[in-house]
Amino acid sequence: MSILIIEDEKKLVDIIKIALKGERYSVDEAYDGKVGLDKAMKNNYSLIILDIMLPKKNGFTVCKELREHQIHTPIIILTARGSEGDRIMGLDLGADDYLVKPFGIKELLARIRAILRRRKTTDENIVKYADLVMDKKKHEVTRAGITTPLAPKEYKLLDMLLSNHGEAISRQRLIEHAWGPDFKEKNNELNVHIRYLRKKIDGNKPLIHTIRDVGFILKE
Ligand code: CA
Repeated sequence: MSILIIEDEKKLVDIIKIALKGERYSVDEAYDGKVGLDKAMKNNYSLIILDIMLPKKNGFTVCKELREHQIHTPIIILTARGSEGDRIMGLDLGADDYLVKPFGIKELLARIRAILRRRKTTDENIVKYADLVMDKKKHEVTRAGITTPLAPKEYKLLDMLLSNHGEAISRQRLIEHAWGPDFKEKNNELNVHIRYLRKKIDGNKPLIHTIRDVGFILKE
């Protein structure tokens, strides 16, 4: 998850940055509206924190131009001016939420979590990678257009690997996700279920790869 901060008060940027990094978001910053807009157009951020009073281009214009370019990255507006008019204008221009300065950093983090959670339930019902598609609403998995029924544990393991494709997932994380935090492996259950899963979805173009002494990764 990466977050762009567009804000000209360097001190405030630093404070937000430290807090976000503490929550393991990756952070990018811009100190004026022009650079901010440029970065937001070029990169794919999970969320943008946008100040209103900015050099070169104000936050309202940045927000408006992003939406006009069909960039729907969630935006939280920061405004020193708490007037109702400003807040309404921000929301009307397509911002998702606003915070009035001075605000508590914990509140900002909570708002970010809420927005990202909302995004997740709408956008992430369908997860795709290569020719593999998981429809979480239908609880259905297809590879190259062919639907493959999976047992519950296999589905959970695939869900974890697919949602984090390209990332090595530790054995412990996979076990916790599929069996729960208290489960202790007795008969190599994880390998057994990964083997079933590979049989069902890998075919002759394997997507699930073993990373020795670590766990597994889903990639082409
Ligand atoms: Ca400012």
